[in-house]
Amino acid sequence: MISKNHISQRFISYVTIDTESDPNSETTPSTPKQWDLANILVEELITIGMHDVTIDDNAYIMATLPSNVDHEVPIIGFISHFDTSPDFTGTNVKPQIIENYDGNDIVLNAEENIILSPDYFEDLLLYKGQTLITTDGTTLLGADDKAGICEIVSAMEYLIQNPQIKHGTIKVGFTPDEEIGRGAHKFDVKKFAADWAYTMDGSQIGELEYENFNAAGAIIKVKGKIVHPGYAKGKMINSMYYASEFINALPKEEVPEHTQSYEGFFHLYQINGKVEHTQLEYIVRDHDKNKFEARKLLMAKIVNDLNTKYGSVIFELELKDQYYNMKEKVEPVMHIVDIAEEAMKQLGITPLIKPIRGGTDGSQLSYMGLPCPNIFAGGHNFHGRYEYIPVESMIKATEVICKIAELTALKH
Ligand SMILES: [Zn+2]
Repeated sequence: MISKNHISQRFISYVTIDTESDPNSETTPSTPKQWDLANILVEELITIGMHDVTIDDNAYIMATLPSNVDHEVPIIGFISHFDTSPDFTGTNVKPQIIENYDGNDIVLNAEENIILSPDYFEDLLLYKGQTLITTDGTTLLGADDKAGICEIVSAMEYLIQNPQIKHGTIKVGFTPDEEIGRGAHKFDVKKFAADWAYTMDGSQIGELEYENFNAAGAIIKVKGKIVHPGYAKGKMINSMYYASEFINALPKEEVPEHTQSYEGFFHLYQINGKVEHTQLEYIVRDHDKNKFEARKLLMAKIVNDLNTKYGSVIFELELKDQYYNMKEKVEPVMHIVDIAEEAMKQLGITPLIKPIRGGTDGSQLSYMGLPCPNIFAGGHNFHGRYEYIPVESMIKATEVICKIAELTALKH
């Protein structure tokens, strides 16, 4: 069995190292401090007995656990990221361990009166009687995604120490900069050489995800004409009013705050405006490929119609696809989801299969030739001071990794 103490200590040794990433940096990793943990992980992978442990110039770590069976088994991989979100500080993380959680409020910080309460975060009640790791209220925790790293390392260690569990070749990949959308783009899929992989980067125990949004970014530039307001009649074009016409031409209900599950949206997240020039910035999201294309066409049509209406090119649209729904790449190899689902069921975990209203590194990797569903890592309330993780969920995630390895060898 995987010991609670052992896995907690490992997790804490990771989260107390600051690895916050920075979207404004051009380098990979985006912050030099990510090397601090990366170098430790390399040492640890060697220490537990992994083979071919490598780290490249961009801090991407890979390692191999050789097969211990004679027959041919597909090569599977497990991936997670060691950076933490720039949304909230990751400096000086001081984890607190709450044993045998009683279901009441948890005082994260008495001085600043920061309370983690089930009145607000009702998921806490799922973990009554379990051991929770929380923050001290002043930082994020970094369970996203150091829990994933901890579970992968612990699973590899367990498989090495328990050779009676039969498995094929297992690959491990740890990346920087996932939180700023750059975890996958320098991932060497060819070098990794797995048939498929799983990111251990989901939240609640049981989560298993292989559908995500198709995503695009749109910028609408609106040209105006500035003239002295006193002499503006028939001459001034106020780009801000024209921009609002564009905004109002989009369907009002198809926005993040009115949609859920498989419903897509247009999300206006920034406006910069003056009389002469206004810029609207949108993200466009939809699970369905056809609806996604229709959304982009609708934006182009509105721009066209408005330009025609005003008889000149006032509106310009720039559209850029960002990532696609991995479902298209995973469905042809659905057995990789089935194996994960069966692994969970055998371990008494209820699989929670639902579409992600976002993207994952796995969606990009899937389009780079490595089909890659996402599995829970166990944490809640990512990217903020209320982040917490039950140790029991980390142990279950570790067991899921071992079980997937076992089932993959058994079925081939
Ligand atoms: Zn993550």
